[in-house]
Amino acid sequence: MTRILLTGGSGFIAAHVLDILLQHGHSVVTTVRSQEKADKIRSAHSKFGKDKLDFSIVEDIAQPGAFDKAVVSDPPFEAVIHTASPFHFNVTDVQKDLLDPAIIGTTGVLKSIKKSAPSVKRVVITSSFASIVDGNKGSWPEHTYTEADWNPITEKEAIENAANGYRASKTFAEKAAWDFVETEKPSFSLATMCPPLVLGPIVHYLNSLDALNTSNQRIRDTIQGKQKDEYPAGAPYLFVDVRDLAELHVKAAEVEGAANERFFVLAGYFNGRTIVDAVRKNFPEYREGLPKEEGEGGGFPEGGVYKFDNGKSVKVLGAKYRTLEESVVDTVKSLKAVGA
Ligand code: NDP
Repeated sequence: MTRILLTGGSGFIAAHVLDILLQHGHSVVTTVRSQEKADKIRSAHSKFGKDKLDFSIVEDIAQPGAFDKAVVSDPPFEAVIHTASPFHFNVTDVQKDLLDPAIIGTTGVLKSIKKSAPSVKRVVITSSFASIVDGNKGSWPEHTYTEADWNPITEKEAIENAANGYRASKTFAEKAAWDFVETEKPSFSLATMCPPLVLGPIVHYLNSLDALNTSNQRIRDTIQGKQKDEYPAGAPYLFVDVRDLAELHVKAAEVEGAANERFFVLAGYFNGRTIVDAVRKNFPEYREGLPKEEGEGGGFPEGGVYKFDNGKSVKVLGAKYRTLEESVVDTVKSLKAVGA
């Protein structure tokens, strides 16, 4: 058993990371923005006492010193998993709403650990395929994306629109984390996780159909008949199931070989059509609202799409990936549970 700090415990991905940490017997403190969220998570995990699951309120990770209190614990933390970061496109100020919480949040938690939590040996950060992909290259069929690729987005491009702002927020935050390790030489090692689109079941206790995490919105829209006339677009064409991603976050905190490694964590390809087909095959009750089988759009770009190499995640972390169909089916079941 290890004592672990998990940031952003109310998030879509973090809710699954929390479940797996508890299943693996770890003792967890998770940060949330309000007591109300802590209470919801607590009541969904009522069999775990305060010694196994506790909370720390961090209202805004963009505030300097936001994590100073959260990183201090008795018994002390041995690992930190930092997932909290804004992932939505509903922004008025890219700098304030996306870049600052991502970058200051990441460097802030690392600074607090270095200053006040010397027992921490491993920090795992949720980065993204957004920090790998080069948006200027489009579908780039001749290229194979790996952990060696970095999104070359500039500070100028970052503030042009919300989509650029999100991609830049992940790129700059992850770069800042690696720079921190290089220049500050802390006593912990770092592992970063770079997932593409994350699909999979939502946890019912934190969600509603109207306030759904960004990456599952396309499945919700599909079953609500919002894409009846044309298949939805498929970018970024690569996906991972949230349960597999959560397992890999925990492995990255546990496994010696993950020290100072970046992981491109993904199961395989999807597009608008494969998502709709999985819904059509498994949920006859939604067929009426789906685009017709012979309908337009939703495929891969003409000429093909980039390749990927997820081999490091398999070799070092023992990754096993669920199929798209399993992921879509379980997502839809979880959306039904909250009223879809
Ligand atoms: P969610 O929106 O469900 O979770 C984001 C979490 O970050 C929430 O707990 C949110 O708290 C918290 N948060 C955001 N801004 C702040 C802030 N300023 N102060 C404190 N807490 C904050 O998204 P996901 O679970 O999908 O995302 C989690 C991580 O995974 C992010 O780092 C995201 O970039 C990354 N990621 C996600 C992908 C996906 O497809 N889902 C793909 C690749 C990477 P609250 O809910 O209370 O606002």
